[in-house]
Amino acid sequence: MQARRHVALKDSIRSIPDYPKPGIIFRDITTLLSDPRSFRRAVDALVHPYAGGGIAQVAGIEARGFILGGAIAHQLSCGFVPIRKKGKLPHKTVKMAYALEYGTDEIEIHVDAVKPGDRVLLVDDLIATGGTATAAINLLKQIGAEIVAACFVIDLPEIGGAQRLRDLGVEVRTLMEFEGH
Ligand code: AMP
Repeated sequence: MQARRHVALKDSIRSIPDYPKPGIIFRDITTLLSDPRSFRRAVDALVHPYAGGGIAQVAGIEARGFILGGAIAHQLSCGFVPIRKKGKLPHKTVKMAYALEYGTDEIEIHVDAVKPGDRVLLVDDLIATGGTATAAINLLKQIGAEIVAACFVIDLPEIGGAQRLRDLGVEVRTLMEFEGH
């Protein structure tokens, strides 16, 4: 039963070869989001370990982490905090640069997005190198959050990002794995 569910959820992901560039297989969650059963299953599975766990805020990474994170926060009856690409947040922020394959990018969070000691769950759709999530964790720690866990629908374990986070002492939960990049 459990295995059949898992396969069905994984089947709801659309894989697009050579997007956005040759050699990358883009794991598209829009097909999971548009299927009511898959969307609910994914959100329920991500919520379940943390229900009743005193989560104060879910922090979602722009942009797909907003969709999942909003639904998870609603289910947990907690707040939602956006972590955005640079230049999008209107109030005072803290920023963190992180490495991309070519160059760097920057994400930011409102300086007062959480209260010191708030228990925070970080959410994004996919973890690859873990660069984005590591930057997000650093931002959250800078503003005083206690990181309870980081959760993702998809893990690309060969790239090692989830292990990188675990090595930093962060609990990581993912719902499925895909081979390769
Ligand atoms: P990383 O920082 O390398 O862990 O990359 C994670 C971020 O890039 C997430 O926000 C993902 O949405 C996106 N991403 C990276 N690789 C893929 C992929 N193969 N398919 C879809 N999204 C990806």
